[in-house]
Amino acid sequence: MARAALKAAPAEEPETESGLTEGGDASKFHDHLSIRHKSRQKPPRHLADMTREEREQTVVDLGLPKFRAHQLENHYFAHFSVDPKDLTDIPAVQRQSLANRFFPKLITPLLTRTADNGMTIKTLWKLFDGARIESVLMRYPMRTTLCISSQVGCGMGCPFCATGMLGLTRNLSAAEIVEQVREAAKLVRDGGIAGGPARLSNIVFMGMGEPMANYRSVVSAIREISALPPLGFGISARNITVSTVGVVTGIKKLAKENIPVRLAVSLHAPNDTLRDELVPMNKRFDLETVMDAAHDYFLASKRRVSIEYALMRGINDQAVHARQLARRINGYGDDWAHVNPIPLNPVEGSKWTASKPEDEAQFIRILRSAGVTATLRDTRGNDIDGACGQLAARYFAEHPEDEAQFGAFDSIKKAPETC
Ligand code: SAH
Ligand code: SF4
Repeated sequence: MARAALKAAPAEEPETESGLTEGGDASKFHDHLSIRHKSRQKPPRHLADMTREEREQTVVDLGLPKFRAHQLENHYFAHFSVDPKDLTDIPAVQRQSLANRFFPKLITPLLTRTADNGMTIKTLWKLFDGARIESVLMRYPMRTTLCISSQVGCGMGCPFCATGMLGLTRNLSAAEIVEQVREAAKLVRDGGIAGGPARLSNIVFMGMGEPMANYRSVVSAIREISALPPLGFGISARNITVSTVGVVTGIKKLAKENIPVRLAVSLHAPNDTLRDELVPMNKRFDLETVMDAAHDYFLASKRRVSIEYALMRGINDQAVHARQLARRINGYGDDWAHVNPIPLNPVEGSKWTASKPEDEAQFIRILRSAGVTATLRDTRGNDIDGACGQLAARYFAEHPEDEAQFGAFDSIKKAPETC
């Protein structure tokens, strides 16, 4: 196995360069990416932002017994309920004030669009400060998957990505992430998606944002999504995928958390020259460093890593690229990675467009004949601006008055009208 040596990392990596931030509003990296962030208010503190002890302390401070906190956890995580009317095991006079204290409204649907005969539902959410994020719910025969956002916008600047064009506004709090899951889990349970009542089974961090740039909130959200009720929704960590552009510091840290989440790495190119152009983060963590970290994650988690690869016509989709990619993957051994090529969902105004179907087919054929497993990723919801950041981009293109009121999306002028 031609195991490449890790690039020497500086003893103490400055946050501004590592790409990994603990999250919240304190890191230098975050301020560097979002000058406006410091002046922003934090989202109201929600039950899903607190530890069990903090929840207990909060009810005790209100003069109530500790077990009220456990009842609230049960309503929230086991029944997806935040409505005071549902808190029937709590004295009627306390219900409203407890709901106000623990369940402040963090996300409100602004727009929903459905596709695939009601099997795909995309929602644009408004946050407490007017910021917008998206989530996409997709029902398949054997599973129901929710794609969630981890940040408002993204600071990583991938030029083919609508979210990248929006720039970063701010990190989401853990509860803002968890609320996307609760809303979807409730909808699926109550038959709000075509096909009848079901259970939300899978979560992918492939909506807006770079999860590793909001590490702390993302990991606490994962813990709450996967813990068994009443401390979480009980969605197995094995069914949660964290997708990263290749923030190696984050991949390494996640490997040590001992949570068996699946890692997806957005590679998009088999050599550094091309990846430098498509993924600016490659200048910080090059391909070899990213692949080493991905393989180490596989060794630590025993879970196959997904390699995401958006096929762009004539750019990264030729036979030579497929061969280079197969060589790189096989250099680490067999059966440790699975490639998910996806036809680019073109962002108007950018110079890249989707591959020709025959080039997609050839790309997959070459990978498979080299022994690398590959499945063309589903393009669910493309007709409803399904890719990352596209619905938000369209919304602001169509609602310039909102854009004026919500100045944080000022980079929208550069963003395309997609679809
Ligand atoms: N920031 C993380 C996760 C969010 S993006 C990451 O980059 O991995 C989720 C996935 O959508 C990534 O694989 C990303 O490269 C891909 N993506 C972004 N824009 C796309 C587009 N226009 N067409 C196809 N895939 C796209
Ligand atoms: Fe950010 Fe991922 Fe889009 Fe790149 S592809 S800009 S990392 S959301």
